[in-house]
Amino acid sequence: MMSKIFVTQPFLPPLEEFMPYLERIWQEKWLTNNGTFHRQLETKLADYLGVSQLSLFTNGTIALITALQALRITGEVITTPYTFVATAHSLIWNKNNPVFVDIDPTTFNIDPNKVEAAITPQTSAILAVHVYGTPCDTEKLQQIADVYGLKLIYDAAHAFGVRQNGNTVLNHGDLSILSFHATKVYNTFEGGAIVCNDEKLKQRIDYLKNFGFADEVTVMAPGINGKMNEFQAALGLLQLDYIDQCIAARQTLANRYRRAFKDLPGIRLLPSHTEREENYSYFPILIEEDYPISRNQLYSKLREQDIYARRYFYPLVSDFPMYRGLPSAAENNLQVAKQVSEQILCLPIYPDLSEESQLKIIHNIHKKKDWF
Ligand SMILES: *Cc1c(COP(=O)(O)O)cnc(C)c1O
Repeated sequence: MMSKIFVTQPFLPPLEEFMPYLERIWQEKWLTNNGTFHRQLETKLADYLGVSQLSLFTNGTIALITALQALRITGEVITTPYTFVATAHSLIWNKNNPVFVDIDPTTFNIDPNKVEAAITPQTSAILAVHVYGTPCDTEKLQQIADVYGLKLIYDAAHAFGVRQNGNTVLNHGDLSILSFHATKVYNTFEGGAIVCNDEKLKQRIDYLKNFGFADEVTVMAPGINGKMNEFQAALGLLQLDYIDQCIAARQTLANRYRRAFKDLPGIRLLPSHTEREENYSYFPILIEEDYPISRNQLYSKLREQDIYARRYFYPLVSDFPMYRGLPSAAENNLQVAKQVSEQILCLPIYPDLSEESQLKIIHNIHKKKDWF
């Protein structure tokens, strides 16, 4: 009897290795507010990721909302419908108006060729997402941002550790946000960060995540409580010891999926790139017309076998009630995103996924002929 196979399962280091961290927290009784582990993790993570400024947060969504505040984003923000809802929600929390632009058919990231047409005098920023860790066309987006005087923000929740030609993708634009949620490649149960290249901007972000306090008696803005606590930071330090082996385990799984589906008619894979260090956070496949059953039928068939693949991202963010009335949410404006969202299926991938479980998944996707 095999148990349920979920799309992901969080990685946890051996419990006994975490105990010394906990003992130290219990001894020092410094639980949050820039404690020892918090300071260590900011330094170590910045180092590991190859970025100059990093501010830890209690989660990725508060990091996103704070990032928009830190850059004083107002009015309209151009973004993608093909993402997790938190991307657009952060705009609403900041009283910005999301303007959806369609995605590129090969990367599933915002299509830079369609951005200019969406710019109005009210536009102040572009909020792009490196979906599945695939880097956006950062060069073109920066060009547009420069010409029109827009801020450029990356939701890099999927892009932990991703490098292109040896360089991290996290240094593009004005800033990037990360998520360390349990379901992500690197987790601190809940957690997140803002990454930027500007020391003064980091200072402002650090004030904002601590109610706006600049010192004991000075509050510089209506900040929020976005601080990461010492428990999260301690776990983050320990997780860093395991991150490379976690990504390597994911790579082995991704390669096995690739070999298995390379020549399977009706199954489309995203291209792999040799110039890129990926994090293998997701394994998306597209179920196209020449596959014998639809994406939704395959999704259900797999569930019957206790395989819980997920339709990330379906429905599109622009189809949720709080967005679907926007002019930019109209289907004819988002045709590529619509089609991808109806064909996409993310297969289980996580460090502890056994070969046996993976072969069961592969077998079930291959055995389509039995379904007639
Ligand atoms: C996970 C995720 C978030 C939110 O991060 P949390 O840490 O869960 O708040 C934001 N954007 C994207 C694209 C995500 O996948």
